[in-house]
Parts: sequence; structure tokens; C-alpha cells
Amino acid sequence: MPTLVMKFGGTSVANLDRIARAAKRVAVEVANGYDVIVIVSAMSGKTNELVGWVDETAPLYDAREYDAIVSSGENVTAGLMALRLQEMEIPARSWQGWQVPLMTNSTHSSARIEEIPTEKINAKFGEGMKVAVVAGFQGISPEGRITTLGRGGSDTTAVAFAAAFGAERCDIYTDVDGVYTTDPRIASKARKLDKIAFEEMLELASLGAKVLQTRSVELAMRYNVRLRVLSSFEEPSDSAGTLVCDEEEIMESNVVAGVAYSRDEAKMTLISVADRPGIAAAIFGPLSDAGVNVDMIVQNISEEGRTDMTFSCPVDQTMRAAKAMEEAKTSGEINFHDLVTDDAVAKVSVVGIGMRSHAGVAAQMFKALHDEGINIKVITTSEIKISVLIDRKYMELAVQALHDAFELEKAA
Ligand code: ADP
Ligand code: ASP
Ligand code: MG
Repeated sequence: MPTLVMKFGGTSVANLDRIARAAKRVAVEVANGYDVIVIVSAMSGKTNELVGWVDETAPLYDAREYDAIVSSGENVTAGLMALRLQEMEIPARSWQGWQVPLMTNSTHSSARIEEIPTEKINAKFGEGMKVAVVAGFQGISPEGRITTLGRGGSDTTAVAFAAAFGAERCDIYTDVDGVYTTDPRIASKARKLDKIAFEEMLELASLGAKVLQTRSVELAMRYNVRLRVLSSFEEPSDSAGTLVCDEEEIMESNVVAGVAYSRDEAKMTLISVADRPGIAAAIFGPLSDAGVNVDMIVQNISEEGRTDMTFSCPVDQTMRAAKAMEEAKTSGEINFHDLVTDDAVAKVSVVGIGMRSHAGVAAQMFKALHDEGINIKVITTSEIKISVLIDRKYMELAVQALHDAFELEKAA
């Protein structure tokens, strides 16, 4: 039997009616002759609530306990979806990560999938099970403890299952009807894309477009999974949604494919550190050990052998970062005058494969921001993207201004 993976995100399983609606979609694919692997998220808002409880109990929490707690939302929806399907006389069974078992490494709260054995689920398909409902976002470490895959990780569970089971397609059902040129909730002129290249989707995701988790796109690219994003609220058709595919499958595309943003960033500056060989390692080593995801880095002008070092990281990691820096100072690894945190910044980025062969995108981007009076604090670029750090209060304005400046509402 051909296999299909169908993933339903938080809003698509937000209550019993929505679960029933999603189950009907699954029933259609069962009737089409597929063995279906359904990946479910927690009900919308549930994971945030669980994370909130963890933060309130222990701001510098033990990540193993964080995982034990925040993984639980998916267990509920997996069981409910299986029950709903059984009520429709479809043989279905729920699977928690450890039962598969979905093996990950031990990096709690952002674990990577190492292996998905197919034997147990395939044996159940062989015995007549038609739907395996798998709790997304969770796995089990070599030490036998529950892990989670990072926020939005159910997308990655879905693509990894599609790869492991050789599924015909991996359909990601969500609350928008595809991938847009930017978040349609921020820019009303955002345009839905019929197709987007893996590389562009990868950049957009990693720069904040949360419609797909970055790692899910990486896996789809590596294992050539046919990945489709579509709405769970609309009647699907073969051409519904957005197909994430190879660059070669797309005939025409704009120089800039899309605009992404990441709202909750912070900028931290170490004032007056010694400008000597090894200083970057002495700063960023401890930050990495403390689990801080450093993104942009700028070393400022040096004066009399001392310099300022600026970096950005997610705003909820500033406490960890400050603690790591204070400890490094106490142990004598580094010496700095002060640590200044700006926790009201956001990152806005433009992405497009066309930038490889087109000059002038950066200049156009900076002009558009200047025209709106938006000050740029930090800039980083790569072959197919340009990112800027700006005051968070201008984020929406910047996204809209860039969408307009690159005329993304118009197809190529
Ligand atoms: P789910 O709970 O189904 O996983 P998410 O909230 O994680 O859904 O992702 C869907 C959301 O991603 C949309 O509601 C939208 O606001 C946001 N989003 C951000 N950028 C984009 C984009 N370029 N295209 C579509 N959606 C986007
Ligand atoms: N429930 C998890 C989250 O909110 C995983 C997911 O929905 O993909 O991040
Ligand atoms: Mg998501």
C-alpha cells in the first residue's frame, strides 16, 4: 500500500470539532487507498501554556524536565485523533515518540532525530491498522529520556516519517493555505506561492517564517520528500497549497522570493573586551556551552587594544547569556567593562535565489527602510539573504515596506 503522511498543526486540532474535521480528511485518504501516518501537534496554545508553567517554576530550567512537560500536549491530541478515527470505524492507533521509538540525540529541547525504525508500525499496518497517529515534536534519547525537537518540531516529525516510510507525499495542514511571500497576518498584500524552492524555504524558515520548522525543510531537501503546505480549513484539491520543491521545477521567480521576520530577538554588547587572538572563542565558547543560540556577531572598532563585541540571540536566552558571561569573567577567561542588553529588537530579512545573480538588492533594501525612517542596528548577508536588526516597534512597518519595495505582490 502507498503511504501518505498528513500533519495537523495546533489550530487544526484546537478542539474536538477541529479534530473531527481533520479526521474526515484522513478518512478521505484512507478511502483513496493509502496507509496513513498522521502527525499531530498539541492543541493550539497548549505548548505555550506548558512552557509558561516551566518558566514560572524554574527560569533556568533543567531541559530534561522541560521536555517531560512540554511534550505532553501532543499525547492528548494523538489519543483523541485515534479515538475519533475509531469512532468512524477506521482502524487507528496512537503512538507516542518512545513507542515508535523515534530515536533522537540527547540535546534536550532541540533534539535531532537520529533514527525512525519502521518495523513496529509496518507490522501493525500488516495486521490491518489503517492509520498510525503519531504524537509530533517528541522522541527518546539514548539515555531513555523524552526529548523534544524544538518549537514547531511536529513539522520535522512529519517529514522524517515521510522519509523513513518512503511516503508518496508529506502534507502539512495548517491555518494558512500555503507559503506566502511573507506572513499574511502582517502584510495583507502577501501573495500565496504555488511553488517554492527548498533553499528559499530553508532560509525563510530559519529567519523566522514559522510556517515550517527549518529542520523539516532540511530533511525534505536531503531525502527528496514531496512536501506540501495547505489549509485544513479549505476543501483540498490536487493543486491546493504550496509545493516545496527543487529549484529546477520552478519556471519563473522573483529576485526576492519573500520577507521573513523574527520578533523576539535581543542584542547584547560586551563593552571593552581585550582585542586579542582567541577573544571570540573565549566569548562564544561559553555562550554555546550555555545553550545560547548566537546569531549575528559584530566586532566594533578597536581602541587601545580594547573593543566592543555585539551579538544577537533569542530574547528568552539573555539571562542564560548574561550568566555565562559573568561566569567567564569570574573565572578570568574574559574581562569586560559592562554587558548592555537591548531586548526590544527584531530581525527582518529578504530571501531569494535570484540574489546570486542580481546586484543591488541590499541597496534597495536599505533605501526602503531609510524611506520609512527605520534605523538599522546590525546587518548580515549570505548568498541568498540579507538580514537587519531593527527596533521591534518598526518590525511590521519594515516587513510591509520591503514587500512593497520588491513588489512581491506581483508574480514574476
Ligand atoms: P501550525 O500550528 O499549523 O504548525 P504555525 O503557527 O506553526 O502553524 O505556522 C503557520 C503560521 O505561520 C501562519 O499562521 C502564519 O502566520 C505564519 N507565517 C509566517 N510566515 C509565513 C509565510 N511566509 N507564509 C505563510 N505563513 C507564514
Ligand atoms: N506543539 C509544539 C509547538 O507548539 C510543536 C508543534 O506544534 O510543531 O512548538
Ligand atoms: Mg508550526
